[in-house]
Amino acid sequence: MPFAGRGSCSPDPEPPLRSYAAGRVARVGDAAHAMTPHLGQGACQALEDAVVLADRADASDGLHEYDLLRRPRTQYVARRSRLVGRVAQWSSRGAVALRDGLVRAAPADAFQKSLKPLVDWSPPACEDRRPEWPCEGRGPE
Ligand SMILES: Cc1cc2nc3c(=O)[nH]c(=O)nc-3n(C[C@H](O)[C@H](O)[C@H](O)COP(=O)(O)OP(=O)(O)OC[C@H]3O[C@@H](n4cnc5c(N)ncnc54)[C@H](O)[C@@H]3O)c2cc1C
Repeated sequence: MPFAGRGSCSPDPEPPLRSYAAGRVARVGDAAHAMTPHLGQGACQALEDAVVLADRADASDGLHEYDLLRRPRTQYVARRSRLVGRVAQWSSRGAVALRDGLVRAAPADAFQKSLKPLVDWSPPACEDRRPEWPCEGRGPE
């Protein structure tokens, strides 16, 4: 159970995994990096995992590559989600006033800019993926 103790929104999940791959098994999605819901990124990250895993699965060390490509990003997103959750759940009057004041005072585009690292993601480069396939059009029949 990834969020033991205080319900699925608890900001105290179990420690991050040291690897998403073991032998011929790879973990994806919540099984690899269950995260709090505060950024709405759980399914997004699961989809990215699937894209990268599908891309690397055929390579000789593909699962290891998948792990190296996905673990840093997903664990960053999970940490950030947890942080947002902590701040969102502040309850002391002073802390809430400070948080709300900062949010109101922030420039209009600050929120969008802060999301850039989350939404700016591209699948592995076409050339890296299938050097023998052309990047435009279809692959070999
Ligand atoms: C209320 C809520 C709101 C959310 N909102 C967002 C959002 O806005 N954006 C976002 O990106 N993410 C959101 N998420 C998170 C997102 O739903 C999950 O991160 C995502 O579904 C994880 O996908 P998954 O495939 O890893 O796991 P799951 O979707 O949990 O799929 C696992 C599947 O495996 C099946 N299964 C389990 N055990 C077995 C077994 N032994 N044998 C066979 N099948 C099994 C389960 O029945 C399930 O169908 C939200 C989650 C919740 C709960």
